[in-house]
Amino acid sequence: MTEKLYDADPYGREFDASVIKKTEYKGKTGYIFDRTFFFPEEGGQTPDQGFVNGFKVTDVQIKDGEIIHFVEGELAECATVHGVIDFEHRFKNMQCHSAEHIFSGLVYSTFGFNNVGFHLSDNSATMDYDGFLSDADIESLEFKANKIITENRKILAEYPDPEILKNLSYRSKKELSGPIRIVTVEGVDVCACCAPHVRLTGEIGVFKVISSEKYKGGTRVNYLAGFRALEDYRQKQDALLEISRLLSVKRGAEAEAVAALINEHQTLKYDYLNIKNSQIADKIKKAKESDSDYLFLIEASEDSEFMDFYAKSAREVFPAFSLFFGNDTEGYKFVIEGKISAKTAAEILRNRFSAKCGGRDNSVRGSVNLSKKELEDNFSDLSLLSEG
Ligand SMILES: [Zn+2]
Repeated sequence: MTEKLYDADPYGREFDASVIKKTEYKGKTGYIFDRTFFFPEEGGQTPDQGFVNGFKVTDVQIKDGEIIHFVEGELAECATVHGVIDFEHRFKNMQCHSAEHIFSGLVYSTFGFNNVGFHLSDNSATMDYDGFLSDADIESLEFKANKIITENRKILAEYPDPEILKNLSYRSKKELSGPIRIVTVEGVDVCACCAPHVRLTGEIGVFKVISSEKYKGGTRVNYLAGFRALEDYRQKQDALLEISRLLSVKRGAEAEAVAALINEHQTLKYDYLNIKNSQIADKIKKAKESDSDYLFLIEASEDSEFMDFYAKSAREVFPAFSLFFGNDTEGYKFVIEGKISAKTAAEILRNRFSAKCGGRDNSVRGSVNLSKKELEDNFSDLSLLSEG
């Protein structure tokens, strides 16, 4: 068993240890020390970061009480090594994890719901509960949690005697064996937990729920605490300032201004589509003046998004038409309609021109790689597609 130095001293940063052995774990070589300040990946929390003998620690895992360190370098068995943990990173984890205990304790005492899942990484933290929490519930609990933070209550981590433990009521996610570590937030929560915690709730600074959603019949709550919450606040503040600058609106009026902008955009888009539609209709009516009963048209690729407008207008005045949108380099999208059988025409287009197409009744659409000249040579009338 590795001595978990972080159990008694969550603020420790540097330590000396002996390399007990080199080991293989999930295809990687790692090292087990007699003692460590590195908290492994455990209980939903990602591992500590740092260095051992100047080598970067890439991962820390725990198996049967032995803590395995993976480092970017070779360590000799029996050697004495010096480890340094990234305490800034560790402290942020402590802030978030202690905040979770406060919130989960409040959820349990207020609603009787259990914390059934926990995940803590560098940029996100989630807590899952086996009951539904409304937005109002969450807002009220968030306020209470922050109040407890400001009250600077004590947080204790200890291994109680089995006799005391027997009569202790505490939250726990699973059946535990061996010595059980109990983390108590004074007057708020008692919970079995293996992770390092801050010693006073005031060190958490702030607790903020980011979002919540229904999850597996209960509720998943995304949150941040401490410096990570501050960083998130800073990013959101920057984004909001940028929006207010771009829209030239006062702080606090951003959402209203964005809604107005979307509204205006939709009106303009509607107007634009109407204009475009009537331009297309005019163009096609003009083509009809030649008194032909077949329309052959090649348009720029930008107009392919209006293919349906073109087809609709063409259908009104021409018994048959071929519409192509594109250019010689990128190929052409097309719709061909009237006086053809879709099935036969599609087959001919595929076999003769390797077109990708499909259709039904008397209408085929798809894409083809031909030149403008080839389109003119083959589709200036529909005789080719009417074969068979
Ligand atoms: Zn915990």
